[in-house]
Amino acid sequence: MSPRYVLAEMMHETNTFSPQLTDVDKFGRNSPNGTLLEGAEAIELFGHTNTGFGGFYELLKARDAIVDVPVVATAWPSGLVTDAAFEEMAGRIVDAALTGPDAMFLALHGAMVTQTYDDAEGELLRRIRAVAPDMAIAVSLDFHLGMSPLLCANATVVTGFRTYPHIDVHETAQRAGRTLLAALDGEVEPVISWGVLPMMTNMLCQTPSAQPMKDIMDRAIEAEASGEVLTASVFGGFPLSDIPHTGLSVVVVSDGDKTAGDRLRDELLSMAWDRRADFVFDFEPMETSVARAASLGSEAALNGPIVLADHGDNCGAGGITDVVAVLEEAMKQGLDDLVAGPYCDPATVELATTAGGGAEITVSLGGKIDMPAIGLDARPLTITARVAAVSDGRYLVTGPMGTGTTANIGNTVLLEAGGVDILVSSLPLEPFDLGFYTHIGIDPATRKYLLIKSRQHFRAVFEPIASEIIPVAGPGVCSEDYSIRTFDRIRRPMYPMDLNTPMSVIGN
Ligand SMILES: [Zn+2]
Repeated sequence: MSPRYVLAEMMHETNTFSPQLTDVDKFGRNSPNGTLLEGAEAIELFGHTNTGFGGFYELLKARDAIVDVPVVATAWPSGLVTDAAFEEMAGRIVDAALTGPDAMFLALHGAMVTQTYDDAEGELLRRIRAVAPDMAIAVSLDFHLGMSPLLCANATVVTGFRTYPHIDVHETAQRAGRTLLAALDGEVEPVISWGVLPMMTNMLCQTPSAQPMKDIMDRAIEAEASGEVLTASVFGGFPLSDIPHTGLSVVVVSDGDKTAGDRLRDELLSMAWDRRADFVFDFEPMETSVARAASLGSEAALNGPIVLADHGDNCGAGGITDVVAVLEEAMKQGLDDLVAGPYCDPATVELATTAGGGAEITVSLGGKIDMPAIGLDARPLTITARVAAVSDGRYLVTGPMGTGTTANIGNTVLLEAGGVDILVSSLPLEPFDLGFYTHIGIDPATRKYLLIKSRQHFRAVFEPIASEIIPVAGPGVCSEDYSIRTFDRIRRPMYPMDLNTPMSVIGN
């Protein structure tokens, strides 16, 4: 008889400083009718994509298993998840656990904070374990999270992404899935060792493809590849979350040998702690970065566009995507042949689509939402522009991140204002794929300047075409400047806010 497994995806990175609540509709964005995906429809849309769901699904189908799918729901990072949304998604997964499957496979994020729970994934695992005390559970996680003691106590296997941009999402799920299947076959006996440091790493210094993280991740990869342990994962952490378990963390799954797992965990955590000063990002003022771009652009031969990456208002980390300060500065400094966006501003999209292609309009672009947690008032930019193109904002993702999925940025317009082209969408998007340009008729490689809102994910497709990449510290809830926000609930002391923080690990 075929085994029966439950497979679900529930992912959200919660920026607790964002004023925008995340309701259930935002989790239905990838669904054709806007509701939470499940069953055959979820399999059709995501079963063979570079997602956690796709990774697990292909592994389980290769075993000829029966796969039950109670929910597949991912929302872009934003503020607290509503209790109603969490109860709907978690309820479906717990109900599926009650049907008595042979095992459960979960693609989670690890940074979901709800109106009630700091640790939504831990609460989900606690509820599952309460109704299925002996069921094996594999969990794949994002690299940006606050490690959950409840999750580690209740999961059987845990793995995390090893890349940022996250191009190994499918593989991360398969690492967890393969290990759990081996355990179900009686070949291995997974034991979790985990630990979290009182250390926030800046997201611009975290990528495992560069130091200081590279050596640490390479050691984890090597330990897993050599069979020293079953899986080893390092998590950079998500510093835009004011919750008690924020910090850099490690999870090792050993084969019945907790001592070996603990040894590797401690080695990886010590490596990170010794390099803690290298995880602090030294950012320059926004005006200086734009001036640097202007200077580079005035040189004759450019081998591709100059990419300005505004990382302060990036929806990939919970930004609103409507702060126009960097665009205003770029226009002030005279950056020409510039493409900017997408800015999320449904009101401007509606105005432009009503006016129609070719019409000239004057709009208050962006700047619609105050951000009280960082003391930033909304401020739009008044521009007069021609409506150059309109689209429904749906396109197939062909780059290495999210490959095979269909992006949905809602109705979208391209506005031409002098030498500046501005993309305005109805839903937020971090541009991790060039489709958001090409689907509306722009060839980004031929332009002089590209101004996007992204921190790291853009690199997967922009590095190959860019002549220069300039991070720009625009204002917003993702700002790298920790001094603009008050952390009330994180562990203290915490490096680098408290420079003399002693090393102390919370774990098992
Ligand atoms: Zn992430």
